[in-house]
Order: sequence, then C-alpha cells, then structure tokens
Amino acid sequence: MRSFNRDSMDDFKGLRITQLDDDDDDETAVEPTNMDEFDDDDDEEDDEDYEPVMLGFVESPKFTWSNLRQLFPNLAGGVPAWLDPVNLPSGKSILCDLCEEPMQFVLQLYAPLTDKESAFHRTLFLFMCPSMSCLLRDQHEQWKRAPEKAMRSTKVFRCQLPRVNPFYSSEAPKHDGTDKPVGDGAPLCTWCGTWKGDKLCSGCKGARYCSQKHQALHWRLGHKTECQQLRTVIETSESGRVNNGVALTQKQKVASKSLWKEFVMINEDESEYDTEMSGDDEIAKPLVSKREVDDQMKSLMNDFEGDADKKTWVNFQQRVAKAPEQVLRYSRSSGAKPLWPIASGRVSKSELPNCKSCGGPRCFEFQVMPQLLFFFGGKNDRESLDWATIVVYTCENSCDSSLSYKEEFVWVQLYSQTT
Ligand SMILES: [Zn+2]
Ligand SMILES: [Zn+2]
Ligand SMILES: [Zn+2]
Ligand SMILES: [Zn+2]
Repeated sequence: MRSFNRDSMDDFKGLRITQLDDDDDDETAVEPTNMDEFDDDDDEEDDEDYEPVMLGFVESPKFTWSNLRQLFPNLAGGVPAWLDPVNLPSGKSILCDLCEEPMQFVLQLYAPLTDKESAFHRTLFLFMCPSMSCLLRDQHEQWKRAPEKAMRSTKVFRCQLPRVNPFYSSEAPKHDGTDKPVGDGAPLCTWCGTWKGDKLCSGCKGARYCSQKHQALHWRLGHKTECQQLRTVIETSESGRVNNGVALTQKQKVASKSLWKEFVMINEDESEYDTEMSGDDEIAKPLVSKREVDDQMKSLMNDFEGDADKKTWVNFQQRVAKAPEQVLRYSRSSGAKPLWPIASGRVSKSELPNCKSCGGPRCFEFQVMPQLLFFFGGKNDRESLDWATIVVYTCENSCDSSLSYKEEFVWVQLYSQTT
C-alpha cells in the first residue's frame, strides 16, 4: 500500500503529479497550450477518455504523530496540520460568508509539484460550514460571475513552500516519531484547534480564540468554570508572576466535540482497481463494508428525475464501483476532468473564475466524494450535510504571491439544486 507520502529515507515523496504525464517526459517544455480545446466539452459522452486518477482513502491514524505538520500529512476530519504554521488565513476568509461561523476542516492534501521549486511543498486545505442550509445557499452564490462577490460556505486554500524554508528541515522526515518542525506555529483557537487564536480570554489569559463565536461557545460549554479555576491558580502562584499568554501550542487538545472524526488519507492509482476484484478486498482497508456504501449509492438513484442525470449517475457509479470506499479523486494532468455524479449543476472550464493572485487560468485538481460524509458519520436526515461532489480547481501555474494561503475555487454539486 502506498500513501500520498510514501515512506522514504532519501527524499520527500508526496503526490508527484507531474509523473502522471508520462507522455510529456521527453518534451523540453510542457506548456499548457491549447486550453481552448477543453472548453465546454464536458458532455457526459466524453467521460470515457480515462485520465490517470489517484484515489484517496481514509484510515484511522496509526501513530499519535501521524498527523503532525512536519510529516506533510494527508488528513481528513479533525484539525488541519498547517503547512505555513505562522501566516494562517485570517479575517473573513475563515468564516462561512453566509452564517459567519468559522468554517470546519474537511481535508488537506499534500500535492507538491516536482517542476516548481517554490512548490516543493504544497498543500491544499478544504474547509466548509457544516450547515446544510448554508450549503444550499452557497449553490446560488457559486454561479456568480464575480467570484469576489460570492458568499461561500465552502473554501479551499493553497499553500506552498520551497525546500529551504523557515519552518521545516530541508531533509525528508524519517517517519519514526522523531521528526521535529523548526520553531513553533501560531497559537490556535482553544475551541476549534483550527484557526489562529489571536483573541485572548481576559479572565484566565490562557484560552485563545479565533472568533467571538468560539469564545462564547466555549464559555457556555465549560470554560466558565474552568476559567475561574485557572484564574485561582494564577493568582495563588508563588512567584506572583502571571504567566501571561500561556500560549496554547498547536498540539494542544481541542475543546470542541463537533469536529469531524479524524483520519489520515492514503492513495492508490485507480488503474490498480481495473482488474476484476479478486478475493483481495483488503487493498484499501475498508472501514465500512462495500455493501453499506453500495446501498447508500443505490438509494440515491430514486431521487433523480431527468434521464441525463440517471445516465450520468450510472456512469459515475460504475466508475466508483471499482473502489467504492474512495473519498477523493485526484488528477492534475492536463486533460483531467471531474467525474460528475449528475448532469445538472456542473461547471464548465469557461465558467471558472481565473486565479485571484495571478489572473491565470485554473484547472481541475481533485474532487471529494460523498462517501467522505459516510466516514465522518453523517446522519441521514434532511438537515444534515450532504453533497454529490465537491470539485476543487486550482491555479494552473500554482503561482506564488505574498499571501501564504491563496484561496482557490470550489464547486459544489448537490443532489438537489433546490433550496
Ligand atoms: Zn454557514
Ligand atoms: Zn475557533
Ligand atoms: Zn478564560
Ligand atoms: Zn495564480
């Protein structure tokens, strides 16, 4: 079994996607020309031309250190392992624009680019508001022509670093529990453990928050008593010296109980599943039986009315059936397209907004499958979160800018487009 970060003593092995373009190896320059060819050609008919795809699967973390940022992990649920641990996203960018609650961490993908020194390390972070009513409103917002005006409940950030950087050794991690980062990261929110905790509790001067919302939540759900106790400890401390800003490190336990269950993600080439299933069902260590996933998928079939949707759904299902536990499909090769579950509510290449940083075009990079919700333990009621697929498009150039976390474009397809 391979992981996105294949264990290796001598090199960083992430998801080196340029290797997928075997045909291009002998060319001197791989220019992303003729992009027009890919415009508006996303009819369901051409879903047949298979581009190499990496599939992502979740499994429980094997070690306590599996999720540490110095290992450049692929994670789903829990809290992110920020690549640049200091210059985190801040301000409005961390909020669901619709309800203004801080968003929740969905997953992160370590996807470095071999041919770009400034993207020697490169991680994509996906967040969303867990409210289904926000996601339904998000559906209307994502069509807006001027994306800076769109109010989104789902956001993705791209962060990249050169091999020599202030936060990590330039040597590959050993993956034996001894790897250490260089220096500390910014203190995080005591409640969500996700975003920068730049607001200090005035009572204990220990708890930190990303937002007033999380401070209020924590206060109500336990910090009220805890804060009093902490204050007493500080006041009676012998030296009388108040340890101001008992900075909560990035390893501190998170107070919130509502984060999604934490997993690490591993990957497999989809082609590994091309052969008929032998008796070896253990390839991806399924956490749920295939039958459970299949039943969930089939029951959705009844929801579709249009024939185009049904046809697309059958195609989707057949492709996914090769490895039903896949939670992610990744392909940055130039012809790669998402595998759409339904025909309606897709975005075409010409509708994608250009990169906010460099103005260049964006390309498909990965999509998140609805199965992830299954592993997150989603409930099956009307109010609970549900999606058909979440598609992430990133700057084709993976451009650099002074901003450490650059927002890329997310497209969410729901089973029902109605609010
Ligand atoms: Zn929201
Ligand atoms: Zn928070
Ligand atoms: Zn406090
Ligand atoms: Zn760009």
